[in-house]
Formats: sequence, structure tokens, C-alpha cells
Amino acid sequence: MSDDQIVERARQILYGRLTKAGMPEMEFGDLGVLAGMHLAGRTEETLVVFWLDSEWRLLGFEELAIGDETGCRISTRSISRKAVAANAAMACFFHNHPTGSATASHADKVTAGLIDERMAAIGVFVIGNFVVCGNRIECIRTGHAWDLISTEQNPCCPTCKQGWPTTEASPTQGEPS
Ligand SMILES: [Zn+2]
Repeated sequence: MSDDQIVERARQILYGRLTKAGMPEMEFGDLGVLAGMHLAGRTEETLVVFWLDSEWRLLGFEELAIGDETGCRISTRSISRKAVAANAAMACFFHNHPTGSATASHADKVTAGLIDERMAAIGVFVIGNFVVCGNRIECIRTGHAWDLISTEQNPCCPTCKQGWPTTEASPTQGEPS
């Protein structure tokens, strides 16, 4: 098996698992890896969505918009049509930044807010909206960021996925003298 075949097989296994067993509530790691694999190497900004049912099982995956290297435009009306067609109860959005960093722009935050409003109007819960840049992923709502593929040198908090501070020494409290 070539590396490309292994990666493709891994993607299929992950997708199949999320379809059958679903994902743990608000645990975005696997969706992030799938989105990262899909968007890897793209030179245009692309917005994708995972549709889920009310049991956190994956119903589908769609590319919603492809833009240029600086951004992409999407009508929230067309997103709601697709959500209804997918019979989704929940949705999770990702877009890539082909260059620069995974930090969400002002436009990203505005668009994420518009998508939230439009989805809420049709009863679809947006569980997350993320920016992916290379191996880095950031939540547009909270600004929390983590590595898609983490290494031991870069551990992160299992709850918020925020990297531990590496330069600051942890304070020692109540140490006997
Ligand atoms: Zn962006």
C-alpha cells in the first residue's frame, strides 16, 4: 500500500466510524482531521460542512464554496437549502486559510454569526465553525487553537484543546521549605 492509499483508507475508516457510531459530543478532533485531510494543499479558500443527525452521527459532507486565496463568498440561503436537503439536525463548518495562519479574520467571525442565525432559523444547531491552516485548527467562536496531528512535544489540554504554555514554568504552591 502506498502512503496515498493508506491516507485514503484512513479517511474512509474515520468517515465510516463517524457515520455509524457518531462522534462524542463537542469532540471535534476527528472532524477536524477529516476536514484537514480534505483541504490539505488547497490554494483557494474552501468552505466545507459536515451534516449530523441529532445523535451526533455523520449524515454527509459537502463543499459549500470555493473562493480565491483570500476568501470565499457563500449565500447563507443556499446553505440552509442544503441543510434541509441533508435532513441535518446539526452542522459543523470548516474553511481553510491557504496561507498565513489559522487565526479567524473579522470577516470569518461575521460570516460565522450569519451562518449561526440562518441555521437557528431552520432548527439546525451549529456545533462548531473552524479555520484550518496546515496542521493548525482554530475555533472561530472561542479562538481556541490546536494541532490536528499532535506530537508529544506539543501537548494540549484534553478539554479545551488549547496548547499548554511551554515557556512559563508552572507555579509551585505550598511547597514546604
Ligand atoms: Zn477565514
